[in-house]
Amino acid sequence: MEFALPPEIVEIQARARALVDEHLIPHELALSRSHKLPAKTRARLEKLAAAAGLSLLNVPREYGGQERGLLARIAVAAEFGRTTALPTRGPTILGPEVSPILYHLTGELREQVLLPVIRGEKRTAFAQTEPGAGSDPARMTTTAVRGVDHYVVNGGKIFIGFADESDFIQLLAVTDPVKGARGGISAFIVPIDTPGVRIVRQIETMMRDRPFEIAFEDVHVPLANRIGTEGQGFGFGQAWLTEGRLKHAARGIGVIERCLELAATRAAGRSTFGAPLAERQSIQWMLVDMYLHLNQLKLMTYTTAAAHDRGEDVRYDSYMCKYFGDESSFAAADACMQIFGGLGLTTDTPIETFWRDQRSMIITEGATEVLKLTLARDILKRYARES
Ligand SMILES: Cc1cc2nc3c(=O)[nH]c(=O)nc-3n(C[C@H](O)[C@H](O)[C@H](O)COP(=O)(O)OP(=O)(O)OC[C@H]3O[C@@H](n4cnc5c(N)ncnc54)[C@H](O)[C@@H]3O)c2cc1C
Repeated sequence: MEFALPPEIVEIQARARALVDEHLIPHELALSRSHKLPAKTRARLEKLAAAAGLSLLNVPREYGGQERGLLARIAVAAEFGRTTALPTRGPTILGPEVSPILYHLTGELREQVLLPVIRGEKRTAFAQTEPGAGSDPARMTTTAVRGVDHYVVNGGKIFIGFADESDFIQLLAVTDPVKGARGGISAFIVPIDTPGVRIVRQIETMMRDRPFEIAFEDVHVPLANRIGTEGQGFGFGQAWLTEGRLKHAARGIGVIERCLELAATRAAGRSTFGAPLAERQSIQWMLVDMYLHLNQLKLMTYTTAAAHDRGEDVRYDSYMCKYFGDESSFAAADACMQIFGGLGLTTDTPIETFWRDQRSMIITEGATEVLKLTLARDILKRYARES
């Protein structure tokens, strides 16, 4: 059962698979011990990815990128999901990460931020979450109060990835508390060395992520550093997250596939009580469920990405993909761990890393309960009949 990917996407996906199989999987146990790739390793892998034609997939052609659609990027991301070699939420090795928000920059900011980011000279972090506002970002309280030629920002953000390596923060802050998420939240570019921006602490997690808490104390941000019009910021963040949800699902495809490879191989080779595990129905059913979920997830995710590329609104479908992708890939890692027994709990295999990473995915960028809540509203609207 396959979603028929167009030939050019099958081809780029095959190149991604070759890179993962030859250069990442053989080194993944050593690489996954640290939360950052060593600089030399990163440079070497980025070079290999560029040589394989996998760089700058989402960057428009006018900026030297490949301008690939979401389906192509998702198909490639699924291949990278098969390995734990790269940091959990870290930058990929496919060239600089350019957030779609940055394409809204104009004038000097385009020269100072967008172009250097595309060239890999500068990096940005995205700051939406606050200690009191995660799943419900509309509750954010960081304010940007407008003066004559600048805003004054006060507040705090938490769980901000890569703040230590970033030159700029893409900050969401409240510009009109009455309007809130409906036109009262704006986006800004804030240089990380602006007076009043303070990194409070780096946060240890059970994954390889080390996000930061950041305080903003009377930070002066020029009016020109607002992205788009006042009040557009919340929408920018949400649009980016739709794409992010499909990336979660793509990663899930890779995780399930790899766990299936590992689990089936182990079940066939390991005997207990005089017979291979592969002959036990309880083990077979685990493999069947993994296979079923792999096929369901591929069909769901590729169908949604293709619809997105045709310009359709896939917001609700992206919720479904993230929910199912995160949950079923965590279940696959869990089943794989069970089949491996004690060995599955060790760091001799990538399984425990898959397990920790996929558990964390169920919480970030939209926890399962929040996705289901939104889906339920849509389902009720579409299916409830007058009684
Ligand atoms: C490693 C890591 C990296 C991150 N990177 C970034 C980043 O770069 N930038 C950024 O802005 N943010 C980032 N985040 C923040 C992340 O997106 C939030 O943690 C996530 O949105 C959840 O918010 P919260 O932690 O405040 O959980 P809460 O909002 O407190 O929710 C806790 C739990 O309550 C449940 N829940 C919440 N609402 C409902 C509901 N309505 N009904 C039923 N149950 C509900 C869910 O089970 C949820 O898991 C990162 C987080 C982590 C851990």
